[in-house]
Amino acid sequence: MKTTNIRQFFKEFHNDEVCLEHLFNTRFGQEHECPKCKRAAKWYRLQSEQAFSCQWCGHHIHPMVGTIFEKSRTPLQLWFYAIFLFTTSRHGVSGKELQRQLGVTYKTAWRMAALIREHMAAIDGEAPLGGKGKVVEVDETFYGGKTTGLDWRSRKSVILGMVERDGNAMLHVVPKQSRQHLIPVITDNVKHGSEIHTDELRAYQKSFSRTNYTYKTVNHSQGEYAKPDGTTTNSIESFFNHLKKSIAGTHTSVSPKHLQRYVKEFEYRFNRRMRPQTMLSELLSRFPDLDA
Ligand SMILES: [Zn+2]
Repeated sequence: MKTTNIRQFFKEFHNDEVCLEHLFNTRFGQEHECPKCKRAAKWYRLQSEQAFSCQWCGHHIHPMVGTIFEKSRTPLQLWFYAIFLFTTSRHGVSGKELQRQLGVTYKTAWRMAALIREHMAAIDGEAPLGGKGKVVEVDETFYGGKTTGLDWRSRKSVILGMVERDGNAMLHVVPKQSRQHLIPVITDNVKHGSEIHTDELRAYQKSFSRTNYTYKTVNHSQGEYAKPDGTTTNSIESFFNHLKKSIAGTHTSVSPKHLQRYVKEFEYRFNRRMRPQTMLSELLSRFPDLDA
């Protein structure tokens, strides 16, 4: 499946029934071993509920259980379409936009968007970045709140960003721009042996064990953005720029409480920037959300 445009989308997912079958087939499939009688079974679609029944013992499988679609009364095709929109936009999808496109209430649209973002985050996972011979750029940025008054920093959210050069990114919203909040997240998520590039922020000074990481800095306050030896934080900074412009354009603003979900949505798309055509298929066939 390589859906890339709206015409192909509606050709493939032309009604709710097809979407339910898709869900059953990707998660279970014919010949799936029945969890009750333990035999490879043919599964028959039940008419009375959104479920399939084992040919031998009549056990039911509900394909939506354990996914973000569980307990939703919104038709499955609308869910799939909403996910399609998330994969085709570089700048994200607002609740208002979903409400308009799907013809659902704002409350429903908002809830769907939140669950889709969590789904993207669950699939993207938290695999550590870097490793021996790899460069990981680390930087953080302030988001939200007014930039006035002496304590403006404390009223803003801090987004910590890590990007493996030519590789994946990871973003985390942290409570404060302090050593205590930044360093553990970095050491948990950047493999030993990596070369870490940052700007000269005090919180990082002498924070990394020289045995675990090679550490290089550029000095932004002196107008230095890239050193001749390749030290730079340009990748993470351009990702931050994209993130902030997109959030401002699509959502106007996002509250600190929900910011983590939004940044994970952008992380998901960033990590698939070289293969965007795989996003829809992946989001409609992998459901780690409620499996744990
Ligand atoms: Zn059975």
